Amino acid sequence: MSAFNDYNFRDQKALVRVDFNVPLDAGFNITDDNRMRAAIPTIKKIINDGGKVILMSHLGRPKDGPTDKYSLKHLVHHLSELLGGATVLFANDCVGEQAYLTASMMRPGEVLLLENLRFYKQEEKGDKDFAEKLSKLGDVWVNDAFGTAHRAHASTAVIAQFFPKEKRFFGLLMEAEVASAEKVMHQSEKPFVAIIGGAKVSDKILIIENLLARATDIIIGGGMAYTFMRATGGHTGSSLCEEDRLQTALDILKKAEEKGVCIHLPSDSIIADKFAADAETSTAPSHEIPDGWMGLDIGPMATEQFCNVIKRSKTILWNGPMGVFEMEKFRHGTVAVAAAIADATQKGSFSLVGGGDSVAAVNQFHFADKVSYVSTGGGAMLEYFEGKELPGIAAVKS
Ligand code: AMP
Repeated sequence: MSAFNDYNFRDQKALVRVDFNVPLDAGFNITDDNRMRAAIPTIKKIINDGGKVILMSHLGRPKDGPTDKYSLKHLVHHLSELLGGATVLFANDCVGEQAYLTASMMRPGEVLLLENLRFYKQEEKGDKDFAEKLSKLGDVWVNDAFGTAHRAHASTAVIAQFFPKEKRFFGLLMEAEVASAEKVMHQSEKPFVAIIGGAKVSDKILIIENLLARATDIIIGGGMAYTFMRATGGHTGSSLCEEDRLQTALDILKKAEEKGVCIHLPSDSIIADKFAADAETSTAPSHEIPDGWMGLDIGPMATEQFCNVIKRSKTILWNGPMGVFEMEKFRHGTVAVAAAIADATQKGSFSLVGGGDSVAAVNQFHFADKVSYVSTGGGAMLEYFEGKELPGIAAVKS
């Protein structure tokens, strides 16, 4: 069931918050258009209904108002191409006369892209008057920007109060994001494994703590595993370690034991004599890494152990790589975990991958279409699984 699909946008001006925060090179060419592509089904549905689409987004982090480098005008041509040649108009301000006038003269099936919302400081401040000005541009408000759903900005949340409940929608991307996140969070089939990796324990404490109440197994890989090794008396050489988080690691292990959640730490590691692609490498138990060496990937035993847990799980959540996958010598653990998730998914498990680096890994190693869902929102997804209410979701639902 989709409230968005069930609605007929004919002759309606749909004000759609998208996340077009795409990377541009020095010549203003878009180097990765995934975020734009992700919003196309929502835009097409409104166009096909005979509605008018007014798009608002941010781009980059402009500090001092309008800056050519951060102008959304650089996206107009490509957006029209992605929409099969549909007319894409551009307003060089997201509020103000030109925007209102252009919006009022639009014909059904046309698209208007507004200039960068963050040229106004009021956007990030969640300013109510600014949100009200934006709201005047549309008859209905559609939030399709999961990437900014964890921010209570003017266009992502505050604006909702200017539309009655029946005129607020999730776009198709948001619907899919919310549905897959809710499936994992509230309807997970057991066994449920959460695979948490990446550099720092401090970034992932809240998500691990929240998942202790839901998961049956938690796999901890990446640099953060060595803080756990050290906390339990291991010797980790010059591996990444957060000395001020040793007690946190012990607390997590204790809570997991109390709750009957099995925490899996890597029994062995691929170690290196320096943090470099051409480092000398060897294998060692993760709690016995010699001085002068550092763990940069999970080892072969750990890989097998982790993959076995993944393959018997019915629900799989993955956030964070198992090692320094950017370097060839240290990517094996991350690739093997991705392959195990793909394998389990093919056999009927539900898998959700989110977080910048795990998403980069599944894309780079060509597993994106072999998992159930790849989230577009790194920070938003993390906060969702930390158990926080996301303002961009609450604004549509409440
Ligand atoms: P995060 O943003 O916290 O998810 O961390 C992702 C980063 O952690 C990636 O750039 C990885 O290269 C890095 N990483 C993963 N494992 C290790 C490790 N064992 N030592 C140092 N960095 C790591």
